[in-house]
Amino acid sequence: MASPRVKCPTCRREIDWANSPFRPFCSERCRLIDLGAWLTEQRGIPGEPLPEESDATDDEHPPKDPL
Ligand SMILES: [Zn+2]
Repeated sequence: MASPRVKCPTCRREIDWANSPFRPFCSERCRLIDLGAWLTEQRGIPGEPLPEESDATDDEHPPKDPL
């Protein structure tokens, strides 16, 4: 019975299911990538740069009165 061939969820490369220690992924790298992507979805993107704070000190310069 031939071992089923599946596609790596990360890179879509076909792998030999029976002989892949990282199944359903083709490699540990792809497994970690998928895990990282999953955690990212759950927790938000770590290390995502925060919106830059404006250098302008708006508090010292209130907006002009609208005409
Ligand atoms: Zn892969």
